[in-house]
Amino acid sequence: EIYTLSLHDALPICAVILLLAFGLGANAFTQAPINGWTKPRVAQKAAVTMMAKKSVGDLSDAELKGKKVLVRCDLNVPLDGKTISDDTRIRASVPTLKYLIEKGAKVAACSHLGRPKDGPEDKFSLAPCAERMSEYIGSEVKLAPDCVGDEVAAMIEGMDDGSLIILENTRFYKEETKNEPEFVKKLAAPFDLFVNDAFGTAHRAHASTEGVTKYLSPSVSGFLLAKELEFLDGAIADGEKPLAAIVGGSKVSSKITVLEALIKKCDKVIIGGGMVFTFLAARGYGVGSSLVEEDFIETAKAAEKLAETSNCKIILPKDVIVADKFAADANTQVVAFDAIPDGWMGLDNGPEATKEIQEELRECKTVVWNGPMGVFEFEAFAKGTFDVAETLAEITETGCVTIIGGGDSVAAVEKANLADKMSHISTGGGASLELLEGKILPGVAALRRASGGGAQELVRERAERDGQDQVQPRGARHGVHGEDL
Ligand code: AMP
Repeated sequence: EIYTLSLHDALPICAVILLLAFGLGANAFTQAPINGWTKPRVAQKAAVTMMAKKSVGDLSDAELKGKKVLVRCDLNVPLDGKTISDDTRIRASVPTLKYLIEKGAKVAACSHLGRPKDGPEDKFSLAPCAERMSEYIGSEVKLAPDCVGDEVAAMIEGMDDGSLIILENTRFYKEETKNEPEFVKKLAAPFDLFVNDAFGTAHRAHASTEGVTKYLSPSVSGFLLAKELEFLDGAIADGEKPLAAIVGGSKVSSKITVLEALIKKCDKVIIGGGMVFTFLAARGYGVGSSLVEEDFIETAKAAEKLAETSNCKIILPKDVIVADKFAADANTQVVAFDAIPDGWMGLDNGPEATKEIQEELRECKTVVWNGPMGVFEFEAFAKGTFDVAETLAEITETGCVTIIGGGDSVAAVEKANLADKMSHISTGGGASLELLEGKILPGVAALRRASGGGAQELVRERAERDGQDQVQPRGARHGVHGEDL
């Protein structure tokens, strides 16, 4: 006997089902709406763990053996003609590539290099990278003549399991940065899956970072990208306390977003570099001819207020090294922060300031550093920065997690020969800053979307985790370091 339901019978049943569904949904999304979205009740660590988890290491042997894998690397190395002057980025790409090779995949690494204007230019060829990569991999790594097209597809088809080729510069096509769908399709066509290991370009929604995830599944992070996320995002959100940030560099205007984000999360924020003087001016002190951004005095005041309400201690230098001109051979003297003479400019922290910073840092379990303490390019004003680097190396040894978040602080740590003494040195400039600012990187959001989650979901999770307003995924930003763009 077939039981049929009339509309009259069905309506109350539907109403009950709807009420039940709404009840369950409401249970999972009970908290207050943030900017129109309802906060999902997710565990605080969810976003971080998930982002770090979707790495190439989570794929099974069967998912990799014999598979054609497109890997987006950051091989955008500085070149002097055809000579690579710093191969850090190539070395950083090796672990993921080697892993895939060892798992028997057919691996094609792609990257941009420089800023070709209109089509292929020999000076931006990835040939020197293929050559250097061969040395690190221990076997010949061929360079494909292009990154798309029949010839490339045939090359990939003919590859042995467990071998690697490098595709030619993706930015030989304008469609790459425009994330043009037809180009994306061509780029993805020969492959089975995608691995993004290019942290330095993860803040760009380009064809080879974001576009291809729409066509290749699974799309996962490589080890380098996963490590960057784990440290730069994970340590800030879930790092052991006390948590300190050192924010230096030249200007408040270029660091205010990161400063605000860090003030909200950290127990203490140490301010260094040129921006010190805008803060001192905001507190009403005379700063001589030091760098002051008049337009940002109110911003500095607001940052101090934010620190008060966020229970974050702001540390400004007690004394400074002042100079009579901005030059390596300037006359110098050490003065208290409130006694900068007219006509003199602060270019580094003084010894008292450094001592206080060192003591504050020694109490911490997690420290993130972005921006030098002074004009470290001149020897006379480098001590404040190098002393901080040394203290970070020292506290790393005793269990503090130290993260050098990109930019000039990385250069300073490298110059001080202390890079291998830190817990993590970020390989991205603009991307590191954006991650520290709490932004969602399109390259990362795309991986999540490709494996079931969405960018909006990630935004919501982050907002929930941080207990604050969400920060939207964003478009292009002019990064601090041109080479990241
Ligand atoms: P940023 O790119 O914003 O991290 O700034 C880094 C630059 O800030 C370095 O080139 C430093 O020389 C510069 N800098 C650091 N301290 C000062 C200062 N007190 N006055 C002017 N520039 C500074």
